[in-house]
Amino acid sequence: MQRLEKYAIIEDVRVKTKRRVYIILKRKLKYGTKEIIKFFSIIAIGLGIIIVIISMKYKPTYEVKIQGVKLGYVKSKNSFEEQISEEIVNQVGTNIDYVVLNAQPEYELKLVSRMQETNENEIIAKLQDETSITYKYFAVTLDQKIKSCVNTLEEATIVVDDIKSEYANNIELDLQVVEKYTNNLQEINTETLEVAETSLHDAVDLKIEEDNKAIKINGIKLSSMPLDSNVSKIISSRFGEVSTVRKSAHKGLDIACAAGTPIKVMSKGTVVFAGYDANGLGNAIRVDHGNGVQTVYGHCSELYAKVGETLSAGDVIAAVGSTGNSTGPHLHLEIRINGVAMNPQWYVYK
Ligand SMILES: [Zn+2]
Repeated sequence: MQRLEKYAIIEDVRVKTKRRVYIILKRKLKYGTKEIIKFFSIIAIGLGIIIVIISMKYKPTYEVKIQGVKLGYVKSKNSFEEQISEEIVNQVGTNIDYVVLNAQPEYELKLVSRMQETNENEIIAKLQDETSITYKYFAVTLDQKIKSCVNTLEEATIVVDDIKSEYANNIELDLQVVEKYTNNLQEINTETLEVAETSLHDAVDLKIEEDNKAIKINGIKLSSMPLDSNVSKIISSRFGEVSTVRKSAHKGLDIACAAGTPIKVMSKGTVVFAGYDANGLGNAIRVDHGNGVQTVYGHCSELYAKVGETLSAGDVIAAVGSTGNSTGPHLHLEIRINGVAMNPQWYVYK
């Protein structure tokens, strides 16, 4: 029994000691935590003070650079980007088709002195110099040649419609509106609607005047000579000539020149024959120009146009040769009205 009591007392002391140590430790820990909290509080307050001081002197601002060159500062990146799109990229102006910034601005968020002013408008002005602007205008053409330029499609359409309706009874006009682009504003030489109409009037009047002077066969205008003016050529046989080489009088005009020389159709029309002519013309082309007028090109070395093809005056249709009943390279040119051969020299190569 004694031994048991002794153990009980020892156990009691052990438990009590343990509890005491625990209390001491707990106290110490409590004290330590307080110290840590205190330490961090001081740091936080210190940081707070530093932040307050910094934010009193400095502000976060975007520095803007373009290709490494500093342009200035802006308050907000987003609203500045909006300003760029509004005032530069999507700017509206006469003739402006589209605007491209040559280099994109770079932004860097920085703390700068509150004294530093932002300069959005100045940067916009600098960026304006770093753009490529494509300008657009509209040309009115007569026979594919520009006669007048205006700023808008509406104006161009008005000019064309007015002129067309005015001359509708006199002449068939090839008037077109062509979109033109340039990066150089100086190149644009647009006219007001009235001036444009006057310019076109003059051009059409000149065309009518030239048209009246033009060589015509039965109302069909001969706009092109069959051989270029710089081609060396001689008349080798005239219309109506009688010769032992032919069964009847010559129905065309023979123009001797180098083989391969391009032959051009004299007026607009449709090819009605293109092939080998068994009656002596060799490779030949016959073109119908309307009003009963046809032209024939014979003895060709090559034929380029085909039956049914629609031609414009001056189109190259064949090459000079010596095929068929021929003694050397030459163009045999025939002009027919309602199937009757006329003397070509009444009209050309007089
Ligand atoms: Zn001939």
